[in-house]
Amino acid sequence: MDLSYILNELGEERQNYYNAVAPPILQTSNFACKTVADMRYMLQHEPEVHLYTRGNNPTVTILEKKVAALEGAEHAIAFGSGIAAVSAAVLSQVNAGDHIVCVRKPYTWTNALMQRFLPRFGVDVTMVDGTDTINYSNAIKPNTRLLYMESPNSYTFELQDIAAVVAVAKQNNCTTIIDNSYASPLHQNPLQFGVDLVLHSCTKYIGGHSDVMGGIVCGTREMINKIFEREFMTLGAVMSPHDAWLLIRGLRTLPVRMERIAASTRKVVSCLEQHPKVDKVYFPFSPAHPQYALAMRQMRNNSGQFTITLKTDNINQVEAFCDSLQHFLMAASWGGHESLIFPIAASYTEGALKPNLPLNLVRFYVGLEDPDYLIKDLEQALEHIKT
Ligand SMILES: *Cc1c(COP(=O)(O)O)cnc(C)c1O
Repeated sequence: MDLSYILNELGEERQNYYNAVAPPILQTSNFACKTVADMRYMLQHEPEVHLYTRGNNPTVTILEKKVAALEGAEHAIAFGSGIAAVSAAVLSQVNAGDHIVCVRKPYTWTNALMQRFLPRFGVDVTMVDGTDTINYSNAIKPNTRLLYMESPNSYTFELQDIAAVVAVAKQNNCTTIIDNSYASPLHQNPLQFGVDLVLHSCTKYIGGHSDVMGGIVCGTREMINKIFEREFMTLGAVMSPHDAWLLIRGLRTLPVRMERIAASTRKVVSCLEQHPKVDKVYFPFSPAHPQYALAMRQMRNNSGQFTITLKTDNINQVEAFCDSLQHFLMAASWGGHESLIFPIAASYTEGALKPNLPLNLVRFYVGLEDPDYLIKDLEQALEHIKT
């Protein structure tokens, strides 16, 4: 299917709404039937028909069709946030007494799900260094049901060899889930490598403007319908029609945004890699990165996130650098129009336990600004680091 067709036409039935170019926001909780026979049909055919917006809604359905097609999936189901998509996908694959192998250092709340939430319900999780697939195979137990990936992962952007992890899963009768938010559905399509469920935080690149939250899970019709009947309908983390509409609007420009972000990020990274005040840059698309060949093999392009460590152990200098940036906002998240930093130093208060990551580590996201405008800002801020 052509990318242009997916983003501009697929799922849109304009003849049903006055040939409006933009889809309507069907802000309704329920859908009426004329006869008992109609209602009986609706009750029997959910989710193919529209009955109640906690189940499905036509505006949300348009988004689901488009993202499913972008991932090469049969079907997709949208949620009110990325973490709702993570939780529903994971819960759909396990029962009490089961075991999961999960990549180490995933997104913060995925980590909380794995380490604090699931053990309360009798699901045991082993966290592994995903840079070597052998760590996944070594962690397999007789009750392992699920191998969970996030490639690249959060903060340090380490890759898992997706095809190799899938092979381990298949040998051991396990399913696989990957959080594909970093790459967006344009830069990596894990279903091609045999992954069972692919999910995104739509809040990031799909929305693209820092004004909406959402999540989505893609897979076979059978697996998605099973999630619909159980986790989705029971936990109720539903996406609103208005948010789906904003995400459809975000999708229209996803290719141009990703292209701009990819090129700008490479420019900013190569400047930082040569800078004497920067210790290390974590970016899998640098030829010097140990996983560069794997990145080139399983991804189409880089995205806007990377991390640096500054050439200082002095937290005051790290803070001075961050505080003096004029054009990078300091905030959580990424994927919007605006460039961001997230300093690990912010998760540390004096006297408290040090975080797992070094205090001189700063995560970056490059947005849609002119890269030279951002580089100039970085250069002035780096003067606060005295080596
Ligand atoms: C932000 C994020 C999530 C969670 O998404 P929300 O929309 O904030 O709930 C999940 N995975 C990754 C990799 C993320 O960056």
